Amino acid sequence: MTTPCIITVAITGSVPTQRDNPAVPVTVSEQVESTHAAFEAGASLAHLHVRNDDGSTTSDPDKFARLIAGIRAHCPGMIVQVSTGGRSGTGEERGRMVPLKPDMASLSTGSCNFPTRIYENAPQFIDWLAGLMKEHAVKPEIEVFDLSMLFKAVEMAGDGRIVGPLHVQFVMGVKNAVPVDRPTFDFYVETLRRLAPDATWTGAGIGRHQLTLHHWALEHGGHLRTGLEDNIRLDKDTLAPSNAALVKRAADLCAKYGRHPATPAEARALLGLPAAA
Ligand code: ZN
Repeated sequence: MTTPCIITVAITGSVPTQRDNPAVPVTVSEQVESTHAAFEAGASLAHLHVRNDDGSTTSDPDKFARLIAGIRAHCPGMIVQVSTGGRSGTGEERGRMVPLKPDMASLSTGSCNFPTRIYENAPQFIDWLAGLMKEHAVKPEIEVFDLSMLFKAVEMAGDGRIVGPLHVQFVMGVKNAVPVDRPTFDFYVETLRRLAPDATWTGAGIGRHQLTLHHWALEHGGHLRTGLEDNIRLDKDTLAPSNAALVKRAADLCAKYGRHPATPAEARALLGLPAAA
């Protein structure tokens, strides 16, 4: 049997895409509802940001707590992953929700340029955030925006700062970081297999490249990420009506590669996470 494909749904994101697509869920109740529909469509992992009422991003632990509780109540077994990205605040604010013990949290293991700013992750900060995740038994998803971040993650797993096996996400198509480029993607996958044979990985393509990365990830035995955080369109002329619509498209694509969307239990086993309570 082929490896089931874990479909991550990144429901909201950190840039004000709801201005461009009103389907982006902003309030906690909208987020729970949107996640539930995506779960029913085949997503087994939810990647989460929370917003203030004016739409700006926050790392407010109370909001995260309500969102996590809502998803756990309505989506049995779904893996909950919080973002500790740069728009959740500055410095240690970015880790404020980790003590809530979500299943996973994102962890960038290096710095790079983003469309209009520097995505800054100093070595000491990375160590601090990784230590916080380890303390609360939260599995990191390593966000790889360039090759050095992959090497850094392997180094940290090797000396115990990260508890393995690694789970890595290759992010391609962010302006000023690594573009969507097939030889680079192949090299990422080959390098991860060489340095961390027990690692799992997800391919994430931003904007119009989302679907391209789905094909590449499915072909190579990886996992995929979709959702309105990364892409607000179904195609050039059509706004995505919901997160669920993007998940359904990804789930349908799995069959073309002889794979099926992972159930929450399968996804937990693949990532080495404990079974849901
Ligand atoms: Zn995110």
